Amino acid sequence: MPSMLPKPLQGFGLTFVQMFKKVTTEQYPEDKRPTAPRYHGRHVLNRHPDGLEKCVGCELCAWACPADAIYVEGGWNTEEERYSPGERYGAVYQINYLRCIFCGLCIEACPTRSLTMSNDYELADDNRQNLIYTKEQLMAPLLPGMEQPPHPMRLGETEQDYYLRADPPAEVDVDAQAVDAVNPDSEVNA
Ligand code: SF4
Ligand code: SF4
Repeated sequence: MPSMLPKPLQGFGLTFVQMFKKVTTEQYPEDKRPTAPRYHGRHVLNRHPDGLEKCVGCELCAWACPADAIYVEGGWNTEEERYSPGERYGAVYQINYLRCIFCGLCIEACPTRSLTMSNDYELADDNRQNLIYTKEQLMAPLLPGMEQPPHPMRLGETEQDYYLRADPPAEVDVDAQAVDAVNPDSEVNA
């Protein structure tokens, strides 16, 4: 049944009733609420347990990206200067967060599980340049037992030994997952 009150009073009444409802405003950034476990946030480039990079510079992530947000240049490893256990490594790696729509297609395309996504959503800045993340910014931190590349393969002399972790040195923690240090709660990175 339509109200008999004049329209202005109906409007003020609505406002008055809202004053007694539970406030849903979030006090960000003082109060940061946890994201859903599989939230797609900032990317991470992961490492093998000895610190070598998982990225092999194949560019599949860049080709899969619908927003053209990833730029990769592959480089060749040598025995004197090795960054990954394979022939090639990601010499240049950039993600443009002005373009990224956080769809996750790049992490699906990555054949080595080098690229994963964390729950970090704080990606605001006051200039465009700072939102193009470089390889150094995206690399997972070194965990105990890891060594900053370049260095030889520490988990086996051949690629087969390396990937099967046939004879890892005692000081290397083969269960260490670099991404856990960035984002311990993420199931995406499990
Ligand atoms: S999450 Fe989607 S848009 Fe962002 S870099 Fe990956 S593929 Fe591109
Ligand atoms: S992150 Fe993965 S898909 Fe992208 S270049 Fe490196 S290995 Fe290839």
